[in-house]
Amino acid sequence: MTYDFDLFVIGAGSGGVRAARFAAGYGARVAVAESRYLGGTCVNVGCVPKKLLVYGAHFADEFEQAQGFGWKVGESSFDWPTLIANKNREIERLNGIYRSLLINSGVTLLEGHARIVGEHSVELAGKRYSAKHILIATGGWPQIPEIPGHEHAIDSNQAFFLPQLPQRVLVVGGGYIAVEFASIFNGLGAETTLLYRGDLFLRGFDKAVRLHLQDELNKRGLNLQFNSDIARIDKQADGSLQATLKDGRVLHADCIFYATGRRPMLDNLGLENTQVALDERGFIQVDEQYQTSTPSILAIGDVIGRVQLTPVALAEGMAVARRLFKPDEYRKVDYRMIPTAVFSLPNIGTVGLCEEQAREEGYNVKVYESRFRPMKLALTEAQERTLMKLVVDADSDRVLGCHMVGPDAGEIVQGLAVALKAGATKQIFDETIGVHPTAAEEFVTMRTPVSS
Ligand code: FAD
Ligand code: NDP
Repeated sequence: MTYDFDLFVIGAGSGGVRAARFAAGYGARVAVAESRYLGGTCVNVGCVPKKLLVYGAHFADEFEQAQGFGWKVGESSFDWPTLIANKNREIERLNGIYRSLLINSGVTLLEGHARIVGEHSVELAGKRYSAKHILIATGGWPQIPEIPGHEHAIDSNQAFFLPQLPQRVLVVGGGYIAVEFASIFNGLGAETTLLYRGDLFLRGFDKAVRLHLQDELNKRGLNLQFNSDIARIDKQADGSLQATLKDGRVLHADCIFYATGRRPMLDNLGLENTQVALDERGFIQVDEQYQTSTPSILAIGDVIGRVQLTPVALAEGMAVARRLFKPDEYRKVDYRMIPTAVFSLPNIGTVGLCEEQAREEGYNVKVYESRFRPMKLALTEAQERTLMKLVVDADSDRVLGCHMVGPDAGEIVQGLAVALKAGATKQIFDETIGVHPTAAEEFVTMRTPVSS
């Protein structure tokens, strides 16, 4: 049987674009459908605009610190609509780049909502297309718990387009998005409170890292309220919002921002026309090679809910393209040692096992830690401190995890991830010459374990 396409990709986000371009590069006839925005979440309402807002928020520190270095900085003021307009212009530029990338690589771009109507068949704008393989790369969508008044809250999609910077913001959640946006709002001058339902935010990260970030955010005047959750939201006559917490406390805000996780985007995707099964959390279930329960249909990225990070979606997209159209170059995605950063102010950068995981996995753990005031702050009043931590297997001397809270932690941890993937031991760290004077050199100069 001949098909219109060898591969029909649904979703032109991180994973879908990567799979489509690689598959076309290997000679396959590829279509990609996109209903909303080229580049998907990361480019439009995720990593990229978020990082631009974080850069924007960081200037407050820079202006203050500059004075210690002899600069007279005039009175500074911040204009949110300018930042958002400039951010939007940059995103439009990137949308154009994604369009050219796809078209120049020979992919057929179909703009509109795609719906699967059979094992090899997709419908878009009233037209049916047949394909040997269908790849679902439809990503995720923010989810807000359905408490009374939840319609008054916003999610991350909306936060990127707020017309004005709210004066008082409540951020709900304790994951990446909550912590990053709390830093953004706080840095830009909003009175910011973060409400998290558990004892300490960023569950899954190293405990020392979580505690250190808690201290640093407190120093910056971010109001952290743990063991706190909203029971209901009421809009007041003046347009402001009143949040009643489960413990009866009442808080007032101009904006309530929920960052309580993301669900898979399966809306009107037509899965009922297939055998595609979902896992217990509602994400698409796939095998090791991203095949769903319908063999001609594959899925990658946030919609499979494994690791919701852009570089992981990219790696999965590439793996699918290779497996289908260049099998001799196929390599399985390695989910161990995925480095990641939380772009809070200050950043977290982390790769490998945290101390708690290493102990749970039965390693005989040695921990090295360094805490210091960054040199850049020496001539300033700022009291921010950096944390660096190494988790080492005492038996094999292998470094199991590297963790940092401090400026540029996201940048620093990328190089460490290469070392950890190569199986570096603590001795190799010790024998590596530092780059002086940097903060990063601390990672190769920690000599005495703090606990073992
Ligand atoms: P997506 O990028 O979401 O792409 C899916 C695409 O499919 C979308 O464009 C959507 O419109 C389209 N689509 C959906 N249904 C259909 C349909 N039926 N027909 C046609 N098109 C459809 N990750 C990082 O690594 N670093 C970060 O700093 C980072 N920051 C983030 C900040 C925020 C606020 C958020 C929300 C996420 C962030 N992420 C970050 C996560 C990252 O954005 C995602 O992991 C990544 O975008 C997932 O890629 P994907 O291809 O699976 O899906
Ligand atoms: P996360 O899953 O990281 O965090 C969700 C948070 O919301 C958790 O603290 C969770 O609490 C809490 N929560 C969940 N449900 C409820 C509820 N019903 N009521 C109150 N609190 C609740 O999701 P995010 O939305 O922050 O981000 C989604 C994903 O996007 C991230 O996991 C990450 O993979 C990716 N991302 C990556 C970034 C980066 O690389 N820098 C930046 C932003 C996003 P609990 O811990 O108790 O379950």
